[in-house]
Formats: sequence, structure tokens, C-alpha cells
Amino acid sequence: MSTHDAARGFDSLAVHAGQAFDPTTGAVIPPVHLSTTYAQDGIGGLRDGYEYGRSGNPTRTALETQIAALEGGVRALSFASGLAAEDALLRAALVPGDEVLLGNDVYGGTYRLLSRVLGPWGVRLRVVDMSDLDAVAAAIEERAPRMVWVETPSNPMLRITDIGGLARLGHDAGAIVVVDNTFASPALQRPLSLGADVVVHSATKYLGGHSDVVGGALAFADAELAERTQFLQFAAGAVSGPLDAYLTIRGIKTLGIRMQRHSFNAQAVAEHLVTHPRVAKVYYPGLPVHPGHALAASQMSGFGGIVSLELADGAAARRFAESTRLFTLAESLGGVESLVNYPDAMTHASVRGTELAVPETIVRLSVGIESAEDLVADVDQALAAL
Ligand SMILES: *Cc1c(COP(=O)(O)O)cnc(C)c1O
Repeated sequence: MSTHDAARGFDSLAVHAGQAFDPTTGAVIPPVHLSTTYAQDGIGGLRDGYEYGRSGNPTRTALETQIAALEGGVRALSFASGLAAEDALLRAALVPGDEVLLGNDVYGGTYRLLSRVLGPWGVRLRVVDMSDLDAVAAAIEERAPRMVWVETPSNPMLRITDIGGLARLGHDAGAIVVVDNTFASPALQRPLSLGADVVVHSATKYLGGHSDVVGGALAFADAELAERTQFLQFAAGAVSGPLDAYLTIRGIKTLGIRMQRHSFNAQAVAEHLVTHPRVAKVYYPGLPVHPGHALAASQMSGFGGIVSLELADGAAARRFAESTRLFTLAESLGGVESLVNYPDAMTHASVRGTELAVPETIVRLSVGIESAEDLVADVDQALAAL
């Protein structure tokens, strides 16, 4: 099939977009291109546009083509990490004095990048609860931001933001609307189709999917912003290496079926947790009691693999996080194996004491693709240890 046929279904694109077999040998899996430089047929005579590994690499192109197809973007760019992708986008889109309106429970590293790296360069930051569009409208009315940045579902409180509504508010004010789609992945949610301008990924999470590669990506609805960001990718150089790009490509081929299983298992764990007397509250958009349930059902095709729970106090939350056996206590999320995280002292330690701080009673689960009954039994035995 053609490598980028947008009419194909999601899972067909995941397997095939950008992955045409090697025309020379017929190798079904395209070779990983490690070469840093390319022979020229006379000065400037490039065979396929490739010149030097930072400016372009065929394996990276294959990944970028695959991600653009899955997000429905005109173009995607791949980076060495999620934060490298964010940094390139922010510096391509903003100038000193511009303001970013940021969701109040975005990834801690995004807040750190904006407040501690770009802040001293003159980028201003305001924080709002993006799941409350009235609050967003009021903030925009008070002062128009250059960029609106949201994570939905958010981390770790799983708040759901109406992407279409947010895009309208942002665009009316002339802002670029950015959605960090790391938690849902394009298998469950396509923000560009809902009106967003740019999608951000930590490919380290569900895209790679096996906790063995760090990477990041951007997908664009607009060719001009993509072009400006591509210049920064080239000129500042935070590209993904060919082996990392290859591992991410390989992970993405199974994204669709993994996200189905993550969602199925997370639903089972969440439904079990809500019945447990030691659990004060469960945060999972797949539960009908979740305030964003209907919205999530309308803009997502599954509820994803992240479940957060609230316990009686910080000591109970810490003890729970240290008592699971199948869920490994570790940072990160989105791999096939289940992980447990205590945000206050782990992923979100850098936002302690800020407006993004996570309550010390919260534990976040990244529910993997193991057997659901084993995962339920594991949270049960950890709760019994409290
Ligand atoms: C991990 C993460 C990031 C940062 O990505 P890295 O690959 O760690 O640089 C950004 N956003 C979200 C939602 C994340 O979970």
C-alpha cells in the first residue's frame, strides 16, 4: 500500500504509514539508517534530500511520517525526548513577552521548562483549570495569551478538557492551541481533528510503549508552524537518533491493540477500587461518576490506562505505593508493564509548593497489559497492607 494513505484505518496506518519495504532488497522492515552523512553526486547533488544526520535521517522520516498519519497532521517532527519537542515548539512559536496559558495539572516537567527555563527568557506563564471553560474564557478575556496548552486527560488527576471548546476560545483570541496527547495517544484521541493546532507527545510513554526508549514528537495542523519548528529541530539539534526512532516505530505498530488492553485493564482496576472501603476516591474517566465521563466518551474512543486513587492520608498513600508486587514502583507510564507512582515525591516533586502541586494522598497507577485479574489482586493485597 502507499505509505501515507489517509483513508486507511488507524491500525493499518500504524503498521504501514512510512514503512514501505526497502526497494533494493525487498526487506519488509526498512533498514535502520545509522549513517551520519550521505554521498553527493557532484556538489549539492543529494539523492533523496539527505545530507547530514541532524538535518535529516530516513529512519527518523519513517517515524515522522507514521506519527503524522496517526494524528492526522500535515507533518510530524521527532525529537530526543518529549521535553526537547516541547522546547523546540515553544521557541519556534513564542517571542519574549508572549504569554502561555497552561493547564493546572500538566506534566511537572512542562511547568518547569516554562517557568524555570523559558521564564528567564521572557516567556510569561499563567495557570488555569482547563476543564473549566468559563475560567479559561475569563483568563483569556483578562489578557490574550499567545498559546494555550492543555493535557487531557490530565496528569495525575485525569481531568478532561473539551478540546473543541478550548480550540474555539483560543482561536478567537488568536492563540495557538496545543494539546499534550501523551496520555490518550492517537489511538484514543485525535486533537487536531477536534480543532487543536499542535499535538505534543512524550513518545517515551505509550507510543514507544515498552519503557525502553526516550523520545518526543510534535504533529501539526499547520504547515507554516511545522516549518518554523523544523528549522529549530535542525538548528538547535535535539533530534531523535535512528535506533531510538526505530524502537518508537516498532512500538507504534501495536499502539491500537495495546491501548485497547490498557483501557480494559484500567477499567477493571478502577471499578474494583471504587468498591473498596480503604479507597477514598478513584479518578478514572471510564467511571460514570467521573465528572468528565460524558465528555471523554464523546472525544475519546477509550478511556486509557491511567488510574489515580486517593487514600486516607499521605502515609497510607506512600505505604500503598510501596506495597504492590506486580505494579513496579517507578517514574513514568505507558509501558506494557504496570507501574505505581507517588506523584508528590516522584513525578511531581518539582511542582511541590506551586499551583500545580499534587495532594499527598494521591497515588497514580499506569495500568499495563498483564492479566486483569492479577492486577486487581495486586492492588487488593496492597490495600490490605494499609
Ligand atoms: C513524560 C511526559 C512528558 C515529558 O516527556 P519526556 O519524554 O520525559 O521528555 C511530557 N508530557 C507528559 C504528559 C508526560 O507524561
